[in-house]
Amino acid sequence: LDPDEFRRQGHMIIDFLADYYKTIEDHPVCSQVKPGYLSNALPRSPPHMPEPLETIIDDIHKHILPGLTHWQSPNFFGYYQINASTAGILGEILCNGLGVLAFSWFASPAATELESLMMEWLGEMLKLPRPFLFSGGGGGVIHGNTCEAIICTLAAARDKVLREIGEENITKLVVYCSDQTHCSFKKAAKIVGINAQNIRAIDTTKVTEFGMCPSSLKQAIVMDIKVGLVPLYLCATVGTTATSAIDPVMELCRVAKEHNVWVHVDAAYAGAACICPEYRGLIDGVELANSLSFNAHKNKPSESKEVIDYKDWQISLSRRFRALKLWLVLRSHGVANLRKHIQSHVRLAKLFEELVGEDDRFEVVCKRNFALVCFRISPSALSKHGLSTGYLSGDASIDNGHIKNGHTVKEPVTSTANINDVNKRLLERINGTGRVLMTHAVVGGVYVIRFAVGATLVKERHVRSAWKLVQGHADAILSDRP
Ligand code: PLP
Repeated sequence: LDPDEFRRQGHMIIDFLADYYKTIEDHPVCSQVKPGYLSNALPRSPPHMPEPLETIIDDIHKHILPGLTHWQSPNFFGYYQINASTAGILGEILCNGLGVLAFSWFASPAATELESLMMEWLGEMLKLPRPFLFSGGGGGVIHGNTCEAIICTLAAARDKVLREIGEENITKLVVYCSDQTHCSFKKAAKIVGINAQNIRAIDTTKVTEFGMCPSSLKQAIVMDIKVGLVPLYLCATVGTTATSAIDPVMELCRVAKEHNVWVHVDAAYAGAACICPEYRGLIDGVELANSLSFNAHKNKPSESKEVIDYKDWQISLSRRFRALKLWLVLRSHGVANLRKHIQSHVRLAKLFEELVGEDDRFEVVCKRNFALVCFRISPSALSKHGLSTGYLSGDASIDNGHIKNGHTVKEPVTSTANINDVNKRLLERINGTGRVLMTHAVVGGVYVIRFAVGATLVKERHVRSAWKLVQGHADAILSDRP
């Protein structure tokens, strides 16, 4: 590594990225390439001789950018966004540039100690109860992702119970989630050895705004105990992936604690919003939980009790100095600005929600929490335009624009158009323009379009023009124009 060459090439990469952000809106948000496009464009074998960075950057322009979905575009309203920021990107560079590993305290004391301090800072920002903090006997770790956090806490809960009931009883362990819990939970449960048939997905309904129902949980636990099974772990979600629904943490914890069940609060998306005072109440009850996926959990520090060997807190051994990035981000923005940033996204989502509400062809399907709006063309709009609703099977039906829960319903209809198909077509058309990206979810059998505000660069004009685009395509679909 030649420091001068590193400086020269580093400037080139920063220039490339700065230009990318300057012109990001010129790119179609969704990539327009066809599968296999890249293998036709790039050589089949690696180069024998070195190539200059200039040539590689040219190829990034030519071949890589066209194949990207531009997650940082202000017109990206899909999934849940990842927020790039100057501090975040530079933090990654610092972390990689220093190139240290931090599996044990000895391997890199600053990395371990900064991570512990960052966990305290985050805990304070979230106003977590003291037992979640190192200073209160708990502590936190930066995991690679939520799935890892869930696997680790599931393993901790499993081992604790198996020590009491014997390892041979692992087949008796039962875990609980809701039908809205992220699918990674089931994967995590299987990885730690839970029988697939012992993973209970508690039903949610539109009535509960897709939050888990504590009495249904209680019923499930009692039934399991009755047949000799051992309730182990509950995953409650604050901000579900599909609709950002909120499980009632306090009530669920009360039910779970009656039966010694470990409670994990998965706040993957909404946890960040809880640094704003107006949302903190949504994780009330967390004091009764065992762990929260900001990856703070209550495992004991390593044997010496003096230092932390983070390798024992996670799946992999090698770990980067990720706290450096977090440190840079928290210091560069400050809590006040991070709050403002989140609040501005919520404001823009509210604006979009209002725009949807002003057009009687549309409806907001689920209560908006945070910065996600789930909407669709309403069944009544379809009827009005002579395209009335179609058959719906499953445990939900759409009737006059409402979701009815109950048994399988096949509603009589007057035409072949299906409300879900119409909304699916609408989304395909919108995304097909390349001008925005939105995604969908199916909840209670209902296809909803998800409009998630969260891009770093998003402004009111992006939200308004996204809505205009939706309206334009709805006009065409409802008047049956191609
Ligand atoms: N939990 C929730 C509520 C999520 O929304 C997601 C992803 O969107 C996950 C878990 C999975 O997150 P990760 O990719 O960090 O494992």
